[in-house]
Amino acid sequence: RAVLQRLVRIEEEDPAIDSSGMPNVDLDPNVFEKRFLKRIRPLGEGHFGKVELCLYDSRGDRTGELVAVKSLKSESSGVETSNLLREINTMRELLHENIVKYKGVSAEEGGTTFKLIMEYLPMGSLKEYLPHNKPKIDHNKLLLYAKQICEGMEYLGSQNYIHRDLAARNVLVESENLVKIGDFGLTKSIKDNEGYYRVKEEQESPVFWYAPECLVHLKFYRASDVWSFGVTLYEIMTYCDTKKSPPAMFSDMIGRSQGQMTVTRLVSALEAGRRLPCPTGCPEKIYILMKSCWEHSPDHRIDFQGLISEFQKLET
Ligand code: ADP
Ligand code: MG
Repeated sequence: RAVLQRLVRIEEEDPAIDSSGMPNVDLDPNVFEKRFLKRIRPLGEGHFGKVELCLYDSRGDRTGELVAVKSLKSESSGVETSNLLREINTMRELLHENIVKYKGVSAEEGGTTFKLIMEYLPMGSLKEYLPHNKPKIDHNKLLLYAKQICEGMEYLGSQNYIHRDLAARNVLVESENLVKIGDFGLTKSIKDNEGYYRVKEEQESPVFWYAPECLVHLKFYRASDVWSFGVTLYEIMTYCDTKKSPPAMFSDMIGRSQGQMTVTRLVSALEAGRRLPCPTGCPEKIYILMKSCWEHSPDHRIDFQGLISEFQKLET
């Protein structure tokens, strides 16, 4: 109880957080006690946070359950704290087969930090899974993953969210036949907006996954997620080969540079109609689908429903 009240207080104290439209943290029954959470090994690290595998061992006999725990790095700021809070509040609203399941939050009596507890997916992200399991994954499997990502995204959109960080590194593998979207760290609600989200802090954005309108106008539409899906589909069809990764390919195309210079050059290349190439061995039909995600104007892009029916047609 006290823990939850403190979470609410953190939210209220931080002017960067807009509490309106947020679910009340106080209603959450899923509190994990920090003292029962045993760290096993790191699972991954991003810009702001880290994810660790832990055993929640409330009986103290090692029979507890394995969970994935996301926390902030020690040097994190108030903005980052509020981002993790927002991520928690987003994830707990979502319930779909192709979205990583929220389990709860952890906090300790008197502490000021908190963590996000989610289900643990032992096979990691597509970025680790695909290159290591290439021999047993054929194109049908890749297309199944692509369709499942679209189904998760269609649901996310139906809940008025824009993901803003769709990429192979953020799609987790439950089994050979099931993938789930994770990492809602940049996800924004567009409920009270005009169908798009305007970026307030530019941060370190995944520019090579971003559509022109995101790079130029800092506006994110549902169709901007479709563009990022196209880049994710490209990654999937390369089996996440790092030599063929979007940053590697775009850097070859526009030359290496840093910061705003990269964005400027990337935008010029995209406006000149340049796109990622067809991955080796990728059927033309799939490349056409990718390109329909990369139409310059958001209005001309295919949507997730359209993608799902295209993938269904390809199944037979
Ligand atoms: P960040 O916001 O720091 O990018 P992510 O949520 O993307 O954090 O997690 C970083 C990495 O940790 C992922 O790419 C994945 O490899 C691993 N990971 C994250 N969540 C889980 C999970 N629930 N189960 C297994 N591995 C995970
Ligand atoms: Mg991530």
